[in-house]
Formats: sequence, structure tokens, C-alpha cells
Amino acid sequence: MLDFARTAEAIGATSSTLEKSRLLADYLRRLPPDDLRRAAIYMSGQPYGRAERRTLNLGWAAIGKVVGRLSRRPPEELNGLFLKHSDLGDWTFDALSEATHPAATSMAEVAAALEEIRTARTAAAKQQLLEALLDRLDPLAAKYVVKVLSFELRIGLQEGLVEAALASAFEVPLATVRRIHMLTGDIGETAVRCRAGELADTRITLFQPIRFMLATAVETPEEAFQRMQTEVVWTEEKYDGVRCQLHSSGGRCELFSRELKETSEAFPEIVEAGLGLIHEVLLDGEVLAHDGTQVLPFFELQRRLGRKVVSSALRAEVPLVFVAFDLLYLDGDVVMDRPLEERRRLMEELGMKPPFLLARLETARDPEHLDRIFAETRDRGNEGLMVKDPHSPYSPGRRGMSWLKLKRPLATLDVVVTAVEWGHGKRRGVLSDYTFAVREAETGQLLNVGKAYTGLTDAEIATMTEFFLANTVADYGRSRLVEPNTVIEVAFDSIQRSARHRSGFALRFPRIVRLREDKPVAEIDTLARVRELHERYFARLIPLAQVAEVSEE
Ligand code: AMP
Repeated sequence: MLDFARTAEAIGATSSTLEKSRLLADYLRRLPPDDLRRAAIYMSGQPYGRAERRTLNLGWAAIGKVVGRLSRRPPEELNGLFLKHSDLGDWTFDALSEATHPAATSMAEVAAALEEIRTARTAAAKQQLLEALLDRLDPLAAKYVVKVLSFELRIGLQEGLVEAALASAFEVPLATVRRIHMLTGDIGETAVRCRAGELADTRITLFQPIRFMLATAVETPEEAFQRMQTEVVWTEEKYDGVRCQLHSSGGRCELFSRELKETSEAFPEIVEAGLGLIHEVLLDGEVLAHDGTQVLPFFELQRRLGRKVVSSALRAEVPLVFVAFDLLYLDGDVVMDRPLEERRRLMEELGMKPPFLLARLETARDPEHLDRIFAETRDRGNEGLMVKDPHSPYSPGRRGMSWLKLKRPLATLDVVVTAVEWGHGKRRGVLSDYTFAVREAETGQLLNVGKAYTGLTDAEIATMTEFFLANTVADYGRSRLVEPNTVIEVAFDSIQRSARHRSGFALRFPRIVRLREDKPVAEIDTLARVRELHERYFARLIPLAQVAEVSEE
């Protein structure tokens, strides 16, 4: 394990992606198959491969408690160390320095210990096992075990780089590595197949999620046509629900989220309907909340997310549909390489019934036509339009030019910063997370409507950190209330009702566009403006008939 940790450390120390990939390839090439499988998975910042579908159920708080106990350091010191890093792994390294009893520990032994932790019944037993494991490790190895457990190595190594390293380590074309990865959905399995030269017979395995195809954002209909370079483009509504992959075969049906996690439990009625399909399929689509005639706003769907058990009351209150827009596998055949046109035809021939619907499809001949369709979809209250190349294959995990998204350009809001927090990862040591408010015109009260993390340059963040330190009203450790005198402009995806903020609203995915030093706090946007935008764009119900159609009709 120490070898792994040293390699990871060296990868983190260089900023050159080429060098990172070379270091990783040199390391992976030396490993026997079992270690290779583990190392590829751990280097991607996961304790288990996706195909294994296992979770440890060990949160930051539990890991923190174990490290704290093992370190035998006083809480103040531990807190101080944590603030320095804001990264669980880096903190572990400092906290455990000279505190453990290192003995040579192989990656197989670490994997076995993780398996014991996974199967332990109680939280206390899990923590005890983790403590025993960390105690056997050198602090550097412990640092990387903790990073793997917290799902982030933070050494600048994305899965794409692990793929590149595998290609170079085993002299396999990168495109082949990607294809194997896409089909197996598991970087560990990919590594082992590359090493063994098993490159040809990788097929789709149902019930192993495949990475989702993604879309590139474009600003205008003209740009969409330029990028796509086809005679006509296909358009589909851009539904504001959650992405979902459905696998169904032989009395088994499972659903997977955009992160490739199984979500069958959250959407039992979709699973039940999937069991009724007579074909063996892998469908890509979007789950939406609807009440029989209308699509409900996203916040209704949110009530159904992340649940293990869905009560019948909630099922009745927030019913669901699955709007299918792609078909990757049908009755034993991988169809994802066939043109979208053909996949759509096959999907229409499936004769699916509600709750299955097909994405509403229209063909656009030129930019003016596309613009008209775009305006119509926005009038129906949708967030935008997907533009697809009818001749294109399905490309898992890629954000290419075959799928584009045209989104409604939204008004931005000018808001004031009311509280700030220390950042994580690259942003540790600076105050980078801003909570912000709008003004209630009648009372002048500031009411929070969201929290944004990104958008400013490093230099701006550094300057603002100094500024906020000097303008702190109350220091709560991680967060600080600041004097509300910094105006920023924020963009966002939507506005939803929220009980979390006193304003009653929350911006979804807010991003800081710029600092508005020119704008006095008295002139920031008001709660009334937020309410108006919400009503105009996000509260309206969309009639189902206009959103999607059933193939039979
Ligand atoms: P974005 O999240 O803005 O990158 O947009 C891509 C997301 O739009 C996808 O991941 C889907 O969840 C969603 N989406 C909604 N409607 C469609 C559609 N007709 N085709 C593909 N993706 C869609």
C-alpha cells in the first residue's frame, strides 16, 4: 500500500498531465492482476469498482472520529490541522504522524480490511475495524486510504488520465481502453482486460450501468447548425427531471442514476412498469414528476429522490413518468453504434405504454426554424432544447457535438454576500463559498437565497479573503458572518421554493458572474424580483401532452 501511496504522492507533485500519466503507467505495469484491479480503482478515487456495486457506509464524520481517536491529539490541535488542509486525507497524514504502528501491509490486505468494514453490522464495529487498519499503516498510506474512502484523491487524476495510463502501460490504443471502460463501466475490470489483452469480446452486460452521453452547450440556433453540420437537426425538449438508465431483462429491472448508482428503490413504479416490458432493453431517459396530465416542477420530484423506501402516500402525491430518448441495447443486440434515427425507430416499435413516454421530437431545417421551435418550447415552460444529430451513434461518457443543448438565457441577479466559508481542495485556505441575499423592498431586510462556490478568479478570491477576514462580524470556525457590503452578480439554472432560506426561495446551481463593486447594496435585486422570475419561469405546470407523446398515439 505504501508503494501505491508513494506513486499517488508523486503524481500529485507534478502538474504535467503527461508526467502524471507516465508515473501511473510505470506503476500499473508492474502490478499482478489483482493488485492492478485495485490500484486502478483506488487511483480513480473509489474504494470499489462500479461493477462491484458495493458501498462502505462510512462518512466523513466517522472517518474523522477514528483518525482523531488514533492520533491521541487534543481536539483543538486536530481542528487547527483540519483548517489548514480542509482535506480529510491530508489532515490524516498530519494527525497520524508518529501515532500509528506501521507494519508492511499489501493492497490485498487493505482490500480485505475494507470488505470486513463493509460487512460489519454496526457503525461502532466499522469504526473499530477502520482504526485497526489505519493503525497498521504508515501515515502516508493511511492518508491515501482515507482519500480513497472519501472518494477524492485530489492529485489531479481524472478517470481519463487513468485510461491514458492503461493505454500506455499495456500498449493498447486509447480508443480501445475507452470502449472497454464504457462497456464494462468499471476501471478495474478495464485494467485487467487490457493487461490480459482481452480486447475484442467486450460486450454490453445488462445491469452494469454504462456511462451517459452528454451534451455540449451552444448559445444560438446558428451555432447549433454550424457545429452539427447536418442538413437537418433533430430537437427534443430538454426535460428538467433526473437522468435515468433503465435495464430490463427476464423478470429483472434496475435503474441507474447519472453517477451510475442504482436508484431502483427511489422509483418503484418505473421498475414495476419495466418488468412488464416484453423486450430486453437498455433505455436512456429522464424521470419526471407528473400528475397524470401535467409535468410537475422539479421541486416536487426532489421529494422523491434519494429514498430507500417510498410510502404509498408519496407515490400517490408525486407520481412519475420515464421519458425515453435513447435505446442502447435490444434483445441481445448492442444498438448504440447505429444511427440515432434507427435507434428511435426501434424504440417507437417497442410499443411502450405510460408511465413510459417518448421524448417529443421535431426536425429543424435551418436556424430560423430551430429558433421557432426553441421559442415554443420555452413558452411551454421548458428549460431548453436538446439538438441531436440523427445520424450519430450513442457515445457514452462523451460531451461531443452530436448532442447539443440550447438553454434559455436567464436573467442574472445582483445579490449581497452575507456569510462566507473556507473552501475545500484547491480552494483550501481561502474563503471561497459565499452565501448571498436579496433585499426585501418594504423592510430593507436581507434574505438569503443561495450559496455559490465558483466563478471568481484565484486572484479575486485571495483579495476577497483578506477583505472578508477584515469584515467578519462573527467567526464560527468553518464559516463567518460578514458585513453585507459585497455585491456580486450570480447566474443560476432555476429558482425553487425552499424552506431552508428565510426568503422562501433558493437558486439552483448559482455561479458568480462577477463582483459588482459599482453597485451599492441598496440597489441589489429584491425578493419581489425573485418571486416574479420564479412565477414566470419555474412555477408553471407544463401540460403533459405538450411535453412528450406516447409512441402508440
Ligand atoms: P445539462 O445537465 O445542462 O448538462 O444537460 C444535460 C441533461 O439534460 C442530461 O443529462 C439529461 O438529464 C437532461 N435531458 C433532458 N432532456 C433530455 C433529452 N431529450 N435528451 C438528452 N438529455 C436530456
